[in-house]
Amino acid sequence: MHKIESAKFLKEVMTNYFVGMGDSNKKIAWCTSVGPAELLRSFGFEVHFPENHGALLGTTRTSGDFIPVASKLGYSSDICSYLTSDVGSYLSKNTPLMKHYGLSGVPKPDVLVYNTNQCREVQDWLTFFAHEFNCPIVGVQSPRHLDEVKKADIDNVTAQFKSMLPVFEQASGVKFDIDRFRETVRLSKEATFLWKRSLETARNIPAPISFFDSTIHMGPIVVLRGTEIAKQYYEVLLKELEGYVQQGSGIIENEKTRIYWEGMPIWGKLRYMSDLFARHNSAVVASTYCNSWIFDDFDENEPFESTALAYSTIFINRSEKVKQDVMEKLIEEYKINGVVFHDSKTCFNNSNSRFGMPQRLKEKTGVETLVIEGDLCDLRFFSEAQTTTKIEAFIEQMN
Ligand code: SF4
Repeated sequence: MHKIESAKFLKEVMTNYFVGMGDSNKKIAWCTSVGPAELLRSFGFEVHFPENHGALLGTTRTSGDFIPVASKLGYSSDICSYLTSDVGSYLSKNTPLMKHYGLSGVPKPDVLVYNTNQCREVQDWLTFFAHEFNCPIVGVQSPRHLDEVKKADIDNVTAQFKSMLPVFEQASGVKFDIDRFRETVRLSKEATFLWKRSLETARNIPAPISFFDSTIHMGPIVVLRGTEIAKQYYEVLLKELEGYVQQGSGIIENEKTRIYWEGMPIWGKLRYMSDLFARHNSAVVASTYCNSWIFDDFDENEPFESTALAYSTIFINRSEKVKQDVMEKLIEEYKINGVVFHDSKTCFNNSNSRFGMPQRLKEKTGVETLVIEGDLCDLRFFSEAQTTTKIEAFIEQMN
């Protein structure tokens, strides 16, 4: 059993990222988590990710203070609690970025960019801020829920990426440079490959990293894609994890069952969840959530087409059939005994238990499934007592 030492380096990397955004000389782009970050980086923008800020509000449990503020403005507490936490935080002129990183608030955007490849909520979310900051906004309307992503779909998204160039040039004051774009795509590809290999170390028994650790260590691949430092971070993390595999050291003691977590994390309850599973010798070793920032298709030789392909084929954007295929593969590769579906009250987009998937998956693979109710940020939708009982019974059943 071990603690992941790279966490210290991670803290340094993330601190520099947040503090760097307080530099008023830098141009800032706001981007959705699976938006065209490489393209923005090629213009020299620092990139702020509102969803990452939402997750920060969740982990610091400040969402509970901010969601009602957004609700007063008419944003229902049934919609994405990243959105309501973030909007409420802005209206309250308060964010953990002030206390933890000395910023005066969220960094002011020079341009806002979204991609509906994950949900339509991001469009409404960033449009709110476009009005607030009187700032240009551009978006990619992705083809959604596809069985097969065809050339016409990629051509469509590629054309939308290209149409954003004049807006980025205007907002950054920098002329588009295809070589710079190739470079950020290459860096992103290399970092994503290292992240993939880091996650795959958990195929080993015992697993050297759990889903709960991965939700923290994924920070750089989400917010620093297309930078040298993200690549360096994952080189360090991978080396450490491979060392544990060689030593046969697991992230929990006495691993007996292996779980796949499907859906969003419950940000304010990561420690509780991690301890609960560990107490019962159960390692949560796989997820599609952390895998969402693995982009096998990036290719610096075709930067527009390859990023359009990578961002259109993400798990959340696929049909039930493709999702089931992905899950079956994970179950096999990670030697999974049970799947926990998190039915997240305010994100139906990333809750995959509502169209019969747990039943179909069990029938096909023979692996036990469980659905728990909760939410990414809004803890009013989560019952610790009920969840503990359900998970304990589930693990006992597998034993
Ligand atoms: S995918 Fe879900 S959690 Fe993410 S922004 Fe959309 S609604 Fe919110």
